[in-house]
Amino acid sequence: VSTLERRAQQLCALLEETGIELLLVTNLVNVRYLCGFTGTSGLCLVGPDQRTFVTDFRYLERAKSEVSGYETIQGRQDLLGDVVELLKQRAGERSLRLGFEDAIMSVASHAKLSKLLPDEVELVPAGGLVERLRAVKDEQELDAIRRATAIADDLYRWVAESHGLAGHTEAAVARALERRAQELGADGVSFPPIVAAAENGALPHAQLRDVEIPRDTLVVVDLGCMVDGYCSDCTRTFATGALADEAKQVYELVRTAQAAAVEAVKEGAECKAVDAAARQLIEQAGRGELFQHGTGHGVGLEVHEQPRLAASADGSLESRNVVTIEPGVYVPGSFGVRIEDLVVVRENGCEVLTAIARELTEV
Ligand code: ZN
Ligand code: ZN
Repeated sequence: VSTLERRAQQLCALLEETGIELLLVTNLVNVRYLCGFTGTSGLCLVGPDQRTFVTDFRYLERAKSEVSGYETIQGRQDLLGDVVELLKQRAGERSLRLGFEDAIMSVASHAKLSKLLPDEVELVPAGGLVERLRAVKDEQELDAIRRATAIADDLYRWVAESHGLAGHTEAAVARALERRAQELGADGVSFPPIVAAAENGALPHAQLRDVEIPRDTLVVVDLGCMVDGYCSDCTRTFATGALADEAKQVYELVRTAQAAAVEAVKEGAECKAVDAAARQLIEQAGRGELFQHGTGHGVGLEVHEQPRLAASADGSLESRNVVTIEPGVYVPGSFGVRIEDLVVVRENGCEVLTAIARELTEV
């Protein structure tokens, strides 16, 4: 059985659990995962006896080379209208429960479908099913993520050992990293790199500034690469010289918390327990209110996907989930520290993909 057919069968098993006969997949990332299509106009219908991919004329050639195991249909109107035609033929007089991705479909598209579909077809919200499958990676996916991680590791070594930080602007370092990622063989970066020095590092989603990075401060560098559609994600916080005691203490606190959370990762561990492993240490040090985001997130075709590791997260880890472990402490107006590794969940622990040092490194 091919990878794509295995995914379709797993999806059909989930559909059966929820009493849905067919799933209309409109999230393009999910479309890619299921049928291989990487273009920007396409959708698919998946059910026990249906594998249909619909795209417009611009993408027929691409679909020919990318899509397998699905019948490709050229849409003649907008794609939803084509789906309606297909379903009219299929449903006939019989009732049909059609799942749709309710987290993705717009209100306008839903209204249009409701209006055009025959009464026999019932629209059933069914978001998150493909995302559940995507959370567990196969060997091919792990291989792509490994390669994306290795290139990002090389980028960190390059910036630390060759390029440097102090004296360059944050924006210039970010641009250099993007260029270098491509030179090292990545398809690109998985998100615009964050380079945030001193007080800018205290903002977890800092904007790049056109100001020179000073000496004797901390610089948060958060970046990932893309290989074969798969992302990596890593953060290191570098020192550009001598640091005040508080900055050194916070760095060690985050490093210890990060290691504790990595230690807590294994198959069956509750997502909130992994978060708590890092959070408790930061709270015990009196810095709990300076760690406002979750401890980690899944990474795959998207840089943020399932599962989420947060205090409010339900569920537990499965073998071959790929997650980040990235606690941080952000001291407003002063500096931030975040350390982020990418790990693969295994039966008795985890495999840490990120292979660069976590000790405070002076650049
Ligand atoms: Zn990151
Ligand atoms: Zn991340």
